[in-house]
Order: sequence, then C-alpha cells, then structure tokens
Amino acid sequence: MTNASTQTTETDQEAMRLRAELEHRTKVTPAMLHSINTEGQLISVSDAWLAKLGYTRDEVIGRPSSDFLTPESRAYAIEEVLPVFFRTGRIDDAEYQMICKDGRVIDILLSAVLDDGSSEIGTISLAVITDVTALKTAKRLLSASEARYRGLVEDQSELISLASPDGVLHFVNHAYARHYGLPPEEMIGRNLFDFIPEDGRAAVAAHFKYVCSVNHSVEDENQVTLPDGRRRWMAWRNRALTDADGQVIAIHSVARDIDDRVAAERRLKESEARYRLLADHGTDMVVQFDRELVRRYVSPACRDILGYEPEELIGGQPTDLVHPDDGASVAMTFRSLLDGSEERRTIINRFRHRDGRWIWLEAQLKALKNPERGALSGVIGTLRDVSARKAIEEELQEVNRRLQALAEQDGLTGLANRRLFDDALARETHRAMREKSSLALLMIDVDWFKTFNDFYGHPAGDECLKRIGAAIRRIVSRPGEIAARYGGEEFAALLPDTDEQAAAATAEEIRQAVFELAIEHRISPNGVATISIGAAATTAGAAFEPEQLLNNADRALYRAKESGRNRVAHNSKPSSQTERPESASTKR
Ligand code: GH3
Ligand code: MG
Ligand code: MG
Repeated sequence: MTNASTQTTETDQEAMRLRAELEHRTKVTPAMLHSINTEGQLISVSDAWLAKLGYTRDEVIGRPSSDFLTPESRAYAIEEVLPVFFRTGRIDDAEYQMICKDGRVIDILLSAVLDDGSSEIGTISLAVITDVTALKTAKRLLSASEARYRGLVEDQSELISLASPDGVLHFVNHAYARHYGLPPEEMIGRNLFDFIPEDGRAAVAAHFKYVCSVNHSVEDENQVTLPDGRRRWMAWRNRALTDADGQVIAIHSVARDIDDRVAAERRLKESEARYRLLADHGTDMVVQFDRELVRRYVSPACRDILGYEPEELIGGQPTDLVHPDDGASVAMTFRSLLDGSEERRTIINRFRHRDGRWIWLEAQLKALKNPERGALSGVIGTLRDVSARKAIEEELQEVNRRLQALAEQDGLTGLANRRLFDDALARETHRAMREKSSLALLMIDVDWFKTFNDFYGHPAGDECLKRIGAAIRRIVSRPGEIAARYGGEEFAALLPDTDEQAAAATAEEIRQAVFELAIEHRISPNGVATISIGAAATTAGAAFEPEQLLNNADRALYRAKESGRNRVAHNSKPSSQTERPESASTKR
C-alpha cells in the first residue's frame, strides 16, 4: 500500500509482484488487520481477522466494515470517530464492539491510518484491531467485586473509613457518617482531626505515626466530638495501607462507639472509690484476705484499733495477732468460709494491741466470690473494738453470778439457803433412785436457843449461829454434800451415797464439834451451846419422796430433843448420849 507511491518508478510487473506480496503478508499476519476503500468497503482482511469473527474471506470482502459493528458502535463510529479520522488521518484505540458470525459480541480497540496516496485503488485506510474482550470482562468483574466489597463495607455496623496519613477522609461508610450525623459526601475531604477534641489530637497523631510505621493493625481508644458537640469514646483498629514501594497511601480504620461501656466502667470505678473512701475513713477496720488467706488490704482504722500502720499488717495471716487460746477457732472459721460451707460468720476474740494489751475485737467476716465465675476469691471482714462492751458484759456476768449466789446463800452463815437446799434435795432424790444409792439427811437444831438470845442478846445469838454454821460446814465438806441454814436456828445437811449408820456417825461428829466450840451458855444445863440432830437415810434402790426423808429426819430430831438434847437420834435407834441429858420439854 505505502509502496504504491513507487509504482511510477517500477515496472508494472514489479508492482504486481509487490502488491501480491503485500496482500499475502496482510493475510498471514497474526494481527487483526483490515483495509477499507473510500466507500468504507472492506478490500482486504487478515486471516486472524477472519478467524476471530468466524467468516470466510468471500463472505466479507466488498461489504461495509460497519456491518460488523454493533448498532451502538456503528452510531458511535459515524457520529464521533469517523469525522475526526477524515480530518486528522488517524484513530487511536477507538473502543468498538464487533459481532461475530455466530452472534457473539467482542470488545475491540481499533487504530487506523488514512492512506491518501495515488494508488490505483484510491484512498484506503488500514486498521489494526485488538481484541480486548477478556480485558473488558476482567474489568467488569473487578468493578462488580468492588461494588460487592463496597456493599459489604457499607452494610457494616462498625465505622469504616479510609484516610490519608495526615487525616483527610477519602471514604467513610454509612455507619461512620450516621455516627457523626452528616451525609458521607460532607465528611469526605474533611480532616478527621477536626472531629477530635483539641486535648486529644496529639495522642491520636502519635498513634497514626506509629500505625504508619508497622504493617499490622493497631488498636486505640479516644474521644471524638460529634458535630452536635457531644463527646463519645471510640475504640479504633487502624492499619496502614501501602503501595508497591511500601509508601503509606492510606489508613484504614474500623471503629466502635464504646461510650456506654466507658461510662459504665467510670460509674463502677466511682462506686469502688466511694466504698474505698468509706473503708479508709470508717472507724471499723476493713480487712481483705486473698485465697491463701494473706492480708491484702487493711484500712487505716487499724491505727486506732490495733496501733499498727496498714502496711505493717498487709501480708500477714488471720491468726497472727490473735490470742493463742482463740487461734484454733479463728483458723477453723476462715477454713469454713473458704471451703464454702459458710458464707458469713461473726466472731469475737482477743487480739494483741501493739502496746501489748489484749483487746476484744468483733469480726464480721464474709466469703468473697468472683462475680463472673462464682469461685471463692478470699475473705473480707470488718473489725470493731468491743473491749468496752466485753468488759461490761463480764462485769454483768460477775454481778449475776454474785446475785445468783446471794439468792442461794444464807446471809448470816454463808451456808446454802433453804431454797438451794430444797432444789438439791429434789435433785439428789432423783439421782439416788436412778443410781440405786442411799441418800441421808440430817436435821440440826440449836438447844435452848431462845434463852441464849434472852440472856446474851440477839447479836450474840447471831454470832453463835455463825460459829455453829462454820463448824457444820467443816464436817459436811465432801463433794456433793450440802450444808444449809434451814431456817431460824435450824440447820440441815444432805449426804449423798450415805446410809443411816454413816449419817449418824457424821451427825455425831458435828454434835461433838459444836460442843467443843464451848460457846458459853449459862442458862443451858450443859453450860455451853449444844445442838440436837435427827438423822435419816433411804434404803438403796427403794423409791421414796423427799418429804418422807425430811419427815423421818424431823421425827428423829424430835426424839433427840425428847431424850435430853445435845444428842443424835435416827430411826433405828437413838444414838448414845454423849453428855448428861437435860430434862426439859421439847417444842418439836
Ligand atoms: P429447844 O431446845 O427446844 O430448841 O429450845 P429453843 O429455845 O431453841 O426453842 P425455840 O425454837 O422456841 O427457840 C428458837 C429461838 O431462836 C427463837 C428465836 O428468838 C431464835 N432465833 C431464831 N432465828 C434467830 C436468828 O437469826 N438470830 C437470833 N439471834 N435468834 C434467832
Ligand atoms: Mg428450833
Ligand atoms: Mg432450838
């Protein structure tokens, strides 16, 4: 074709040869080539052209090249491409679609030059066609997948953005824009630092710098200011995106609003701080032990209560200041709290104050549970000094003991009183029957006592009763034996596990002892104060009533009086007379 210009200098034969050669080359080239004449009709096509579109040469030569374009491409060619082509003489990479013989449409790029040389076949154009169907398909697929990815990103409830390393937003998803209350297009182009409170910008800038220096995502939490002025805490996951050379081109961010969580955490911290304040300033001492029962926290009240600084007590064990007598029970209490068998316990025991004295502390203890897993994590307790209360309690107990004793004691002689004696008689009666033992009772009455009083006066009479009482107590002193002032100038003694003979022997011992006191009693025939005793005892194993025993002893006493006083009598027979009997009337 271009060599047509040499035609005038060549022989016709040579020209024919060259054209044939050119035609041949045009045919066999692996490129898709075609030539058209000024009417737009195809005058030659390459084999590759035919192969791609599925035609034979005879089917296409002479037909307008536009026959092989889709209607849209044909319109595009006529209206836009060809006017430029005829004016400039060339087209570069016009995008057309061609139709194959089987109806398939292929995407092509067409480049052509206009040859207006004076060839005998007139002006022609030569076009090179590149099939770009595969490339176009790939591009379509890529944009579809991009759209899908974008859709995914937009559907996320998390906030997603792309920003330049200096903070200019290039992309925000719907969630991001919604969070800030602005349409996405109003956010794009703005700098994300505009949405960060001034006092937080330096930290975020430093974080971005770090993100750009590593190739993994980095988490951060910071506050943002929304356009309406509210501040919200956000959690970010930021990652630098780099180009092929490793240059950071954007920062990809995924974020969540964590303001509610942060607020809840703050409330928790505040309430913890309040409790801490209470513990730190309360008068009760607050102590916390871990699972190994090591003291982890002690409130400052320990200074007042135990005289120690909190630091001196931290690291210690529950029993280290406890009185040795209380140690085992305290250790057991802590064990039962830790093994879950008890949840709370209140104990009172002695602790050694730093100054050495023992003080009473009441400890209210509670097992501590891990709120999530429910496992026991230690013991917490409040300790209060109850020494004063304890002292009052002890004093009260002592008073009660004294009152009790007073209630059961005879004020003059210090012996048991009638009430205690009656109780003891009832108790010992039951025991004697249960144990099938004998129980003995002595009834003792001072002789001629009315006249003693009359002669020596009442106070001297009292003194006499006291001395006689003391003499009785010295003899009735074995465990379980009870001597009592039964009333007036009468005494009684209860002798468990004693038969009548043994009781009479004890009675005689008492009579003798009183006689030997030699308390002057001029009016008495004996010259000294004497006593008469009636002894009685039950038969071992026999049932009896307390009143029977009392009556028997009383009757024996009557007989002792009857037979002259200053003597012992019992039911079997009166005892032998130890002193000269008096002939006086008895009142019993
Ligand atoms: P008998 O040998 O028969 O027992 O003669 P008695 O004088 O002891 O007899 P009676 O029972 O009539 O007298 C008892 C006296 O004991 C009467 C009372 O004045 C005196 N008496 C009773 N209780 C007390 C007391 O607590 N103190 C003094 N000083 N005298 C008392
Ligand atoms: Mg009497
Ligand atoms: Mg008497």
